[in-house]
Amino acid sequence: MNDILVFGHKNPDTDTIMSAIAMANLQNKLDEKSAKCCRLGNINKETKYALEYFKVDEPELLEKVEENQEVILVDHNEFGQSVDGIENAKILKVIDHHKISDFKTAEPLFYYAMPVGCTSTIIYDLYKMNNIEIEPKIAGIMLSAIISDTLLFKSPTCTQKDVEAAKSLAKIANVNEQEYGLDMLKAGTDLSDFLCSELINMDSKPFTTNGVKYQVAQVNTASIEDVLKNKTEIENEMKKFIQENNEELFLLLITDILENNSQIISVGTKQDVVEKAFNVKLEDNMAFLPGVVSRKKQVVPVLEKNM
Ligand code: MG
Ligand code: MG
Ligand code: MG
Repeated sequence: MNDILVFGHKNPDTDTIMSAIAMANLQNKLDEKSAKCCRLGNINKETKYALEYFKVDEPELLEKVEENQEVILVDHNEFGQSVDGIENAKILKVIDHHKISDFKTAEPLFYYAMPVGCTSTIIYDLYKMNNIEIEPKIAGIMLSAIISDTLLFKSPTCTQKDVEAAKSLAKIANVNEQEYGLDMLKAGTDLSDFLCSELINMDSKPFTTNGVKYQVAQVNTASIEDVLKNKTEIENEMKKFIQENNEELFLLLITDILENNSQIISVGTKQDVVEKAFNVKLEDNMAFLPGVVSRKKQVVPVLEKNM
């Protein structure tokens, strides 16, 4: 019999990878049937830094799933962000912290969601509930996920639960969460060897609202100016992407992780939605959004409202 496959969303971020590893680890302690963690895309530099630091192997790449394959989804639920073939897979569990949209199963399932900053915070809860001890290296990668998703506790998505989970995990992993966290976030901002076509896809998600298909991507940086040096080429890649994917808008957030602001670049036929959503006038397809760092909480909801 096949292993249960555990994975997060496409264009994986640190939470998606670490939560898949941690959840597979927990599942293997709870159930006789073995679970395997997978990834749906390339590992980014931030995630790589954390995996190497805690000496944990990368999950295997998964391209698609066969009919009736047993799966556990972490850090997502929208089928458009999931593995190819998900419609006909058997979803056993979902552990997530996103809005629920476009989600349907044929059978009952275990669905555990909380409006917290990170999926690993919820998985931390599951370890506690089941009285399972967390190994130091698993604690380290779960801590990394929380730091990543909450931008070192500064994102408006961060909750007390995230902070408490991170504190306990840091203790188990034996690291200082502030020092380690900043080093890890900085490792993720090195964009020097990426093509613009890769940059717009590193952390990019498709959404559909009222029949309008659009893309929202985010890159973290310590210097917005540096990223904007390639603005024309980035814009061209964004235009190409929405053309090829029949989407009406591509919004890229370039997020300054030190100052906690974002510059946006927006292309497509729905620019008016962006202007209304953020109450800004786009100049040269750009606007500056002070204090905006969270796609989930500060960007997608206002786009949806105005779409
Ligand atoms: Mg994620
Ligand atoms: Mg997440
Ligand atoms: Mg994210």
